[in-house]
Amino acid sequence: LSFEELGLDARLVQALSKKRITKPTHIQRAAIPLILQGEDIVAMAQTGSGKTFAYLLPMIQKLFAETNSNKAAPSGFVLVPTRELCQQVYSEISSLFELCRLKKKVVQLSSSMPVPDLRAALAGPPDIVVTTPACISTCLSKDVLQASDLQCSLSTLVLDEADLLLSYGYEEDLKSLVFHVPRHCQCLLMSATLSADVEKLRKLVLHNPSILTL
Ligand code: AMP
Repeated sequence: LSFEELGLDARLVQALSKKRITKPTHIQRAAIPLILQGEDIVAMAQTGSGKTFAYLLPMIQKLFAETNSNKAAPSGFVLVPTRELCQQVYSEISSLFELCRLKKKVVQLSSSMPVPDLRAALAGPPDIVVTTPACISTCLSKDVLQASDLQCSLSTLVLDEADLLLSYGYEEDLKSLVFHVPRHCQCLLMSATLSADVEKLRKLVLHNPSILTL
C-alpha cells in the first residue's frame, strides 16, 4: 500500500516525497489508517521503525481539517522522554508544516525554560507542543497553561517512547496531566516494550485502543 492508499492527504504525500520517503514502513501501514479513523492506539515500535511519522502524519492531517481558530490552548501534545527527542520531533513537525505550506505553529518546551518564556511560547496558542511530562506539570502548576483550556482544546495526545517516559520517573507528572485529558481526546502510545508499567499507563490514559505489535 502507498501513503495515498492509507488515506493520507496529497499535501503530506508530496511533502514526504520531497524527503525521498515514498513507501510506508510496517508500523506506518498499520497505524496511519487507524489513527485517521480517530482510534486510540498502542504501538510497539522501536526507534528506526518509522514510528515518528506513523503518528505525526495523521496528527497533522487532523490539523488540515481544524476550524477552531480561537482555541485557548494547543490541540496537540507530543510527550517525549528526552530533550534530544524533543528537538528531533519538533524539527520533523516544522519541516512538514513548511513543506505543506500549512500556517500552523509548533513549539518545543523544556523544563529549563523560565516561566515567562514558557508563557510566551504558549501565547497564541501554538497548534502542537512537543515537550516532557515534567514541563507540562510545571506549566499546569504555575498557571502557564490553564487546565480548563486544555480540556477544551486538547484533541490529540501522543506518549512517545512511553517505556522511557516511565523509566525516567515521569509517572507522577503523567498522572497529574491525565486528570485533565478530555474524554474526546485521541491518545497514541508508542513504546519499544509493552511492560507492566506501560500497560498501567495505557489503562490510565487510553480508551479501548487498537494494540499494534509488529
Ligand atoms: P523513527 O523510527 O521515527 O525514529 O524514524 C527513523 C528514520 O526513518 C527517520 O530518519 C525517518 O526520516 C526515516 N523514515 C520514516 N519513515 C520512513 C519511510 N516510510 N521510508 C524511509 N524512511 C523513513
